[in-house]
Amino acid sequence: MTPAEAQQRIAQLRADVARHDERYYRQAKPEITDFAYDGLKRELAELEAEFPLFATADSPTQRVGDDRVQGFREVAHRQKMLSLDNTYSEEEVRAFHTRMVRLLGTEDLHYTVEPKIDGLAVSLTYEQGRFVRAVTRGTGDKGDDVTANVRTIASLPRELKKVRGTVMPDVVEIRGEIYLTAAEFERINAERAAAGEELYANPRNTAAGTIKQLDAAEVARRKLSIVLYSLGHCEPAVVTTQARLHERLKAWGLPHVERIWHALGIDEVWASIGELDALRRSFAYGTDGAVVKLDDMALQREVGATDKAPRWAIAYKYKPDTARTRLKAITIQVGKTGILSPVAELEPVFLAGSTIARATLHNEEEIRRKDIRVGDLVEIEKAGEVIPAVLRSFPEERLPGAPEFDLPAAVGHKCPVCGGKIAKLAVADEEAQGVAWKCQNYDCSAQRTGRLGFFCSRKALAIDGVGGVVAEKLVELGHVQDPPDLYDVAQETLATLNLGTAEKPRVFGEKNAAKVVAAREAARALPLEKWLYALSVPDVGETTARELGRRHRNFTELADSALLRAVLQKAGLAAERELQAPSSRKNPAKSDEDRARRKELCVRLDAEIAGLDAGPLAGVPSDIGPAVAASVVEFFASVPGKRLLAKLQQLGIDPQGTVVAAGVFTGKTFVLTGTLPTMKREEAEQKILAAGGKVSGSVSKKTSYVLAGAEAGSKLDKARELGVPVIDETEFQRLLGR
Ligand SMILES: [Zn+2]
Repeated sequence: MTPAEAQQRIAQLRADVARHDERYYRQAKPEITDFAYDGLKRELAELEAEFPLFATADSPTQRVGDDRVQGFREVAHRQKMLSLDNTYSEEEVRAFHTRMVRLLGTEDLHYTVEPKIDGLAVSLTYEQGRFVRAVTRGTGDKGDDVTANVRTIASLPRELKKVRGTVMPDVVEIRGEIYLTAAEFERINAERAAAGEELYANPRNTAAGTIKQLDAAEVARRKLSIVLYSLGHCEPAVVTTQARLHERLKAWGLPHVERIWHALGIDEVWASIGELDALRRSFAYGTDGAVVKLDDMALQREVGATDKAPRWAIAYKYKPDTARTRLKAITIQVGKTGILSPVAELEPVFLAGSTIARATLHNEEEIRRKDIRVGDLVEIEKAGEVIPAVLRSFPEERLPGAPEFDLPAAVGHKCPVCGGKIAKLAVADEEAQGVAWKCQNYDCSAQRTGRLGFFCSRKALAIDGVGGVVAEKLVELGHVQDPPDLYDVAQETLATLNLGTAEKPRVFGEKNAAKVVAAREAARALPLEKWLYALSVPDVGETTARELGRRHRNFTELADSALLRAVLQKAGLAAERELQAPSSRKNPAKSDEDRARRKELCVRLDAEIAGLDAGPLAGVPSDIGPAVAASVVEFFASVPGKRLLAKLQQLGIDPQGTVVAAGVFTGKTFVLTGTLPTMKREEAEQKILAAGGKVSGSVSKKTSYVLAGAEAGSKLDKARELGVPVIDETEFQRLLGR
């Protein structure tokens, strides 16, 4: 390779690694396996070593992957949080030992061998034994504060157990990994499958994606787990060896690794790595390797670390299980929102304990990038409980003339289920981002089935038992078109529903039918937010549904929502404001007169916008933007939307919004000043918020009431000056309705 070629390849590799880092660390949606990724990084490191001229300090080989995302507070680690050098080769593990021997001048070295957990690295801080903070690795120096989310982990103690005869450190950083158990991962995916949603690829990315959610209540719904295994800053020091650390973690009552191995010398290390490989599939967490560490912490300090990784440890990674087989066909599945997703139909092959005949291909773009064509020999991978994925094709073994995969052509430019029109549209739901082909027919039976499954899922109305094949049969036999039609299906019909075939019948059964009937009756009482979410209104995710449910009393009010109209009106005004701005590039002012006129117009538009913000839009979160507002308004004005509302009315189902405390203070702004006789300030604020009101720090003409107590200050004077009503606690209580 010439230096010029090397330089070009290095640039390419850096760009690739950066792209994969972004997907892995920030979006938690990697496109390639760890093995393939490690291969790219290795090639880069080797080229940089061979051509040191092109090595730079900002190369991805020189820093840890950055997992920080927007929306979290950044916190510095007391002790830098490093990653580990890793290898797939025995030789390099042995070379690691040789290095230690050289650096420390003795052959007699003790190591620990520990499972390498495939989760999301996190650092917990305990002060005087109390849990105070959880921070992701981030840049290694500072990471995202995910304390609220980590608090949802049930197995994590808030307080460390006292260990007799030992000192509790004043401050200790304990490092470990957040993960999802295989069972929880399966539960989440089963729920998604029942709901017709795209399945998550593997537990690691699902865990990483979950911890980066901003809503802790949402996080709590997915039962994350944690396991701890190493120490950061510790004051005062409490242990002197890695093995003792594991004992202490256990004694403190922290979730700890299943087993560690003590090894003297490299042969014992290598034997332990083999033993761990034989055991690791029985662990609750996914593992992808073994970590070898110098046991003695004094020696660890002596050996030190680079900017990126400690020199006293190395990770050996096991190769994932892969197999080669033939791609027989690519079929297309249609989800509840009509998204067409490709699935690989394979020549069945035995891999990692099961026979595999189908694998995920994610989307059209990925098929093109990996150059996968029908008839190809492909390599598939299955790691643990992960859904099998197609890794790569072998174009060199392809018969000439095999065409590129063309999704719309493959389905004859129509929905493979209903024959309806398809279109390539922007998708931005919880799962897919970007563009995808979608079936445009709302009454597509695949979409009907998906919506019915979703309607009954735990996250929606929790009518257990009506997912997958049950939903499919109910739609296929014409019992259900729209999800609420489920209420019209007689218990007897459900009980005798044939889930099998005419030749091999298999009925749903009395017991299951009775359960469904009980659950659907119970669901009648669920609030508006649940029903709205359950009905799969476009663009309405769980958070949006909750926000809308809190601001509308029922479907009738929502369908003709003054709030949503105001959102759209504001968007219109803002667009007009932009166009009329004298400095507008699209529409520059033509004369001084024009400029002056438009300036005046902008002032008026600003005032109108401010009026909306203070009035109908007060306290409305950004989740409810113009796109959502337009979707909701359009949906309830559309034929399917009207049909759904009419059906609910016919069924006597009238879900109520959780409009806070009947909203006695909705649209009212309070300013608090002075000390109230019986109520704490926070308490009063809580009550105002709970009743739909707002609390502001300063008095203006827009203030509805000043709630004043003893020793009220200048705010009281200001209120009198502006003629704002001033009330005391008794009056406040009376307004609240006591
Ligand atoms: Zn369709």
